[in-house]
Amino acid sequence: MKNKLIGVVRLNVLEMFIKDIKETIKKVLLEGKVLRLYQRMRSCSVLILAYHSVSENRDGQADYINSGITTEAKRFDEQMSILRKEFYPVTLDEIADWINGSRSLPSRSVAVTFDDGFADNYHIAAPIMEKYDIRGAIYLTIDSVQHRKLPWFCRTVFLFQQAKRQNQVLTDSEIKRTWNLGNPKENREAFIYYSYPCAKLVGEELENYVEKLEKWFGYGIDSTMSPSMIDFEQARELRRRGHLIGNHTLSHGNLAHIPPESLHHEIAGANEILERELGERVEHFSYPHPCLDPQWNNNTLEETKKLGYKTAVLTSFGSVFRNSSPLLLPRLMIANPNAFEFRWKLETALAGIQT
Ligand SMILES: [Zn+2]
Repeated sequence: MKNKLIGVVRLNVLEMFIKDIKETIKKVLLEGKVLRLYQRMRSCSVLILAYHSVSENRDGQADYINSGITTEAKRFDEQMSILRKEFYPVTLDEIADWINGSRSLPSRSVAVTFDDGFADNYHIAAPIMEKYDIRGAIYLTIDSVQHRKLPWFCRTVFLFQQAKRQNQVLTDSEIKRTWNLGNPKENREAFIYYSYPCAKLVGEELENYVEKLEKWFGYGIDSTMSPSMIDFEQARELRRRGHLIGNHTLSHGNLAHIPPESLHHEIAGANEILERELGERVEHFSYPHPCLDPQWNNNTLEETKKLGYKTAVLTSFGSVFRNSSPLLLPRLMIANPNAFEFRWKLETALAGIQT
């Protein structure tokens, strides 16, 4: 017993030592400019950061918006300050012009984008960005914006989060399976199992599927209590203040997996509504990636070409080069890193390393 205890203590000390070493190496690499040297050896590239929700209540809203896609407002402020001091904040329009050869950009240029269209982008993120004279691109999920309803993946998060807390048991008679949703592992498995069909559905069929789940569980999101979506008036105001508003489809399905006959309507239909509401052409698109891979294919690429977008962004990792395809731009996903982790993420990405 005593030997076992000593073994555990030794292991913990070793783990802490390794963790310390890792942090020290990271610090040396960051402060010693080794990464900068490595970056200079590559051809010039720029970064596009991908955010979702920015909140003053990250834990409090985790039942609605997965905390993995929420950034604390304080940290977001810190990150924008770092961008302004240590990088060159640019817009997606400038990146598009850089790719088509009509302008130059300094190395270490970085654009800020937001997927989905949560109202906190208007209330919290935009004022913080403007404090540092940064303008972002916000991609709206049109059905959700129009109906003032969180997207389907927030509704399913809510069902499974609540069920975990209430130790709920779910029996699916079609597949003859019972899930004990109080067990985190089973909860996760069931969540993924029921999310996959949602990612392949759009419009009414998607709504019916999510409503069926809500009936099973016996509850759904009360929209008066939950975080909300941006409305079109707020979107127009953000445009006036210099931010870009882009299309994130109607239903937020995975475009490479939805029925092919729905593809055009999901992109072009959303675009039409957005252009009517904004009173101008919409030139930027973001591919939803709720789950399943890949998130695009040749048909989706053709659709974005037909609509004449200047840029379309993905969730795949990478920096953007002058010869990158403007309709398949990689991004750097940002969740909730502290200042050190944020710098590390950006500096390594510019050096071509995914961390
Ligand atoms: Zn999205």
